[in-house]
Amino acid sequence: MPGFRVHITGSTIMGAGYGGAAWIVGDMPPMTCALAGGLCAVSGMLPNLDSGLGIPLRESVAFAAAVVPMMMIQRFHQMGLPIEGVILVGAAIYLTIRFGMDWLLKTYAIHRGMFHSLPAMFIAGQVAFLAFAAEDPLRRYFIASAAVLGFLTHLVLDEIWSVNMGMFGPKYKKSFGTAMKFHGQELWPNLLTYALAVILGLLAAGDAAWTERMHSMRQQMEQAARSVPPMQAPWNYRR
Ligand SMILES: [Zn+2]
Repeated sequence: MPGFRVHITGSTIMGAGYGGAAWIVGDMPPMTCALAGGLCAVSGMLPNLDSGLGIPLRESVAFAAAVVPMMMIQRFHQMGLPIEGVILVGAAIYLTIRFGMDWLLKTYAIHRGMFHSLPAMFIAGQVAFLAFAAEDPLRRYFIASAAVLGFLTHLVLDEIWSVNMGMFGPKYKKSFGTAMKFHGQELWPNLLTYALAVILGLLAAGDAAWTERMHSMRQQMEQAARSVPPMQAPWNYRR
């Protein structure tokens, strides 16, 4: 299987291409592109969270623990949390990811289990979508797709590394087909993964509808404000 370095290189190149293309061709704001590129690079590490917490992965979990609360600042703002609340909730999220993930992975993760699967890839995208609550829907889809792309890059690299090109055509290792899969061999992890994907999908769909409604409402209001001539304030009378 490809090592940490192969994965981080692959997903970083993909992220740079994705962010760069969106900036140059797609007219995305440069900061959004930079965030998407970074997220894609980090997301390329996610599937290997199941292979025990070595130093690089421990680092990735700590990194995610720090970045996720920051991504959610806009969301806290929308909820009307005061600054004290933002700090408390941010700290709680940090601790949950930092130590909760640690425990969860140590206890339950099996290498090449459901962490290496297509539904897990969608879960990563949905989490990014829910965490990144930009008002402009296009930017949200763009960021969520960056997480999906990074994850996919990892799965594809794993599959490529499971094929040896020999003199007499390709030879498949035992690991072939264990990364890009829809389901694993065991029932419970499959059910759990799909349940999570469906729940997050429903949440994301509801959230998307809500933000799009807000977005179009804001646009309508701005348009209305532009078309109505400025009113004379009643106290501006002349004698
Ligand atoms: Zn892997």
